[in-house]
Amino acid sequence: MKIEGTHKCNSTYKDCDHTYEWMVQIATHSSAPEVEVFDKPTGRIIETLDNKYSVKIICPKCHQDNLIEYIRN
Ligand SMILES: [Zn+2]
Repeated sequence: MKIEGTHKCNSTYKDCDHTYEWMVQIATHSSAPEVEVFDKPTGRIIETLDNKYSVKIICPKCHQDNLIEYIRN
């Protein structure tokens, strides 16, 4: 499965404010890896909590780390 959303750059190093779409592929053990075309910046899950994921992603404009909190359904 994958999650996706829109994020406004929150880099603390640069005054960027770039808004971009992102996605993360979430590995599932029950199925074979899906082959997908990533047409958006892709991040990775750095923390999984009961109600949210913490996603780390590189801003495509300023190339700084961004941290996104994604609320799970
Ligand atoms: Zn940025």
